[in-house]
Amino acid sequence: MSSLQSQHRLIPAALEAVSTACAVSRAVQANLAQLCEVTKDDRSPVTVADFAVQAIISLSLADTIAKGDRLIVGEEDAATLRTDTQTTIRKAVLEAVRSWRSQVSEAEMLDAIDACNHDGTGDGYWALDPIDGTKGFLRGQHYAIALGRIEDGKVVAGVMGCPNLSIDQAFPLDQNDPQGVMYAASEGAGAWEFEGCNHTAEPMRILAQQFESSRPLRFCESAEKAHSNRGDSGRIVDAIGNQGEPARLDSQCKYALVARGQADGYLRLPTSKTYVEKIWDHAAGLSIATEAGAIVSDVSGHPLDFTHGTRLEKNRGVICATLGLHQRIIATIEDLAIAQV
Ligand code: AMP
Ligand code: MG
Repeated sequence: MSSLQSQHRLIPAALEAVSTACAVSRAVQANLAQLCEVTKDDRSPVTVADFAVQAIISLSLADTIAKGDRLIVGEEDAATLRTDTQTTIRKAVLEAVRSWRSQVSEAEMLDAIDACNHDGTGDGYWALDPIDGTKGFLRGQHYAIALGRIEDGKVVAGVMGCPNLSIDQAFPLDQNDPQGVMYAASEGAGAWEFEGCNHTAEPMRILAQQFESSRPLRFCESAEKAHSNRGDSGRIVDAIGNQGEPARLDSQCKYALVARGQADGYLRLPTSKTYVEKIWDHAAGLSIATEAGAIVSDVSGHPLDFTHGTRLEKNRGVICATLGLHQRIIATIEDLAIAQV
């Protein structure tokens, strides 16, 4: 039986780190306009949030877990942030970090960011996307803080904060719920939901929805056209039939929608022959969806292979759905010869 008692030993530390980071990223997102004005740069809020979250996760994990257990493959490094041209951004990052822990020095913050430079090899490490769905973050919409745990080439646990997603599935997806929601999963222990991105909230078990051909299917896909081929997803859904409206949103929140039974599937269909997916864009979400009872594979039906460092070199695209539907999607992709080249 899946139970929280059998959860991965490092999950409590990860939950606390992500929970803290959610509060800070939310404050940065609320100040988007002001930050753009100060820095004269439209992308600066996401830069500030990215660095601040990476620093906080790195520092927070260091509070309770040993060095060998906190190797992190992070999306960011601080090389540019250390330069003179970045003084304003650096100050804003430090201010965001100090809103959590006032005594952190600039040097400690920069070193914490750079400590997340693991190369994605070896026995055990974390894959961190500090702000997954940067486009959503800048639009003031959904994004996720995603921390996945990889051991011996397999994803074994994940924590994901969704600061604008409501725990209430009746809440419209095109609106933000400032309470947010957080998810955690670990191998054999199920997937769990925490109200308000709060690691001390009562965890609630989530389960993916079994496929029933009698009701309209609801798929989700990226809000960004460039990240998933909408023409191909339309052809797949037409072939399977009975489609409902697709939910389009940024970030790994899409895995959570499948995991909590709100969407039947998440389709990420390649838009180019050359794009290779990154481990931090999938590790946490995959863990949560899988533990909730969904299947995650590439477009050929092969499991995502986390044994190639920071990139999913052997895979193309991602399909996430419960068993019967997953098989139908993969068979349809083959029939329609989608993403075969
Ligand atoms: P999403 O919010 O689902 O659109 O995913 C955001 C992620 O898409 C980012 O973190 C990028 O790493 C990734 N990305 C960037 N370019 C592409 C692309 N051409 N195809 C698929 N994913 C991409
Ligand atoms: Mg990302």
